Amino acid sequence: MPYVHDTLTRLKKSSPAQSEFYQATEEVLECLRPLFQQNPRYHQHSIIERIVEPERQIMFRISWIDDAGNVKVNKGYRVQFNSALGPYKGGLRFHPSVTSGTIKFLGFEQIFKNALTGLPIGGGKGGSDFDPKGKSDNEIMRFCQAFMSELHRHIGPHSDVPAGDIGVGAREIGYLFGQYKRLTGRYEGVLTGKGLNWGGSLGRKEATGYGAVYFAQNMLAARNEELNGKTCLVSGAGNVAIYTIEKLYELGAKPITCSDSSGTIHDANGIDLALLKQLKEVQRTSLEAYLNEHPDAHYISVRDYPQNGNAVWRIKADAAFPCATQNELTESDASALLENGVTCISEGANMPSTTEAVDLFLAAKIAYGPGKAANAGGVATSQLEMAQNSSMEQWSLEKVDKKLKEIMANIHKQCADTAEEFGEPTNLVLGANIAGFRKVADAMIEQGVT
Ligand code: NDP
Repeated sequence: MPYVHDTLTRLKKSSPAQSEFYQATEEVLECLRPLFQQNPRYHQHSIIERIVEPERQIMFRISWIDDAGNVKVNKGYRVQFNSALGPYKGGLRFHPSVTSGTIKFLGFEQIFKNALTGLPIGGGKGGSDFDPKGKSDNEIMRFCQAFMSELHRHIGPHSDVPAGDIGVGAREIGYLFGQYKRLTGRYEGVLTGKGLNWGGSLGRKEATGYGAVYFAQNMLAARNEELNGKTCLVSGAGNVAIYTIEKLYELGAKPITCSDSSGTIHDANGIDLALLKQLKEVQRTSLEAYLNEHPDAHYISVRDYPQNGNAVWRIKADAAFPCATQNELTESDASALLENGVTCISEGANMPSTTEAVDLFLAAKIAYGPGKAANAGGVATSQLEMAQNSSMEQWSLEKVDKKLKEIMANIHKQCADTAEEFGEPTNLVLGANIAGFRKVADAMIEQGVT
């Protein structure tokens, strides 16, 4: 279809060197072909030309002083991608690999993810190429204060509400919130993922991981299967991975791996969750230290990973939960997973599987939940935090978790129903992209040309 092809070609020309962003846009737009054939109004209103272009991109300098008194400079970003459904909402990522293309891909994915939650939130994303590794607590605080000194003029509880992502957890949200309050003099719900005694929501920390497991539960239930008794591979060792592992145990599954940027732990007895939390949430150290307590577990350093692949996905299991970062699961990893009998994949991370890997999962017709659907529990619970802030309430953990379960079941139903409607009942990628897009596109048409 020339409409999709021409838009993608123009995009590559007008936004050069943003490979992750093209990967994300190509996946979504390719899925939309049958929708455009059925309904010409999206073309008539130039919706895809408009939807691939952020409403606003803010780039700024962050200057801060390290413990030795040196002046350091980083790049800061906030992409306010689409506000058709509500205020921009999406996390902040602090990682040395961050570029404007990374933030654009994440912001683009966020538009459709947020639409799938059924909640009134638009799509945005932000971050910096700042590397939190090896920084002292004071350095993290000074960096966060410098970052917010610029960002505060662009955000607000009714316009743009950032949250955490890689490298931004409760500690960073605290420092960012403190600086926002100091600069504006306002105590308001401008960030989510806040501390529990100053406006945070019970269940927010756990929500992305728990949600990815609930999504897997829904996919399996549709195939008359369950997680109970299944051996699971999990990548990552951060917020999403830890609470994926926690919920897998609660549902009777056995997670046997986790990984970080230096290597993978394979513990056939099941990952020691308390130890993992201690290493990553408290000590913030490398996973290799896991072996001090469990010498019988295996540690595979990234130096020993297979060529073009990731050691996590080469271990035999029934289900897989990629929870670290984008493109961490390649075509050869996907082949290995399928050969080893994996029948369920639920993505806690954003775009963790390469395009070629996704094609293999779809061809095999396994239960495959793409990140924009499977990890939407985090942003959904962020919106529940916003609702609590604006009504000055604090809900119980049971109430938040019940809502999260309902939201994940509803997202799965929308994806499955839409996939069925377009004649590909097992293709939840198609279902997620069309269902999310339709909501945003219809709102854009109703709101006129803006
Ligand atoms: P964290 O910073 O808490 O953890 C990230 C984990 O992934 C760490 O273990 C980190 O290793 C590892 N990692 C990061 N980058 C790389 C890399 N390039 N190569 C190998 N390992 C890497 O982040 P989150 O758990 O919050 O986020 C994980 C994923 O989930 C991301 O894709 C994020 O966008 C997505 N997500 C997060 C949500 C949330 O609510 N937090 C919501 C929805 C999606 P190390 O410990 O060595 O740094």
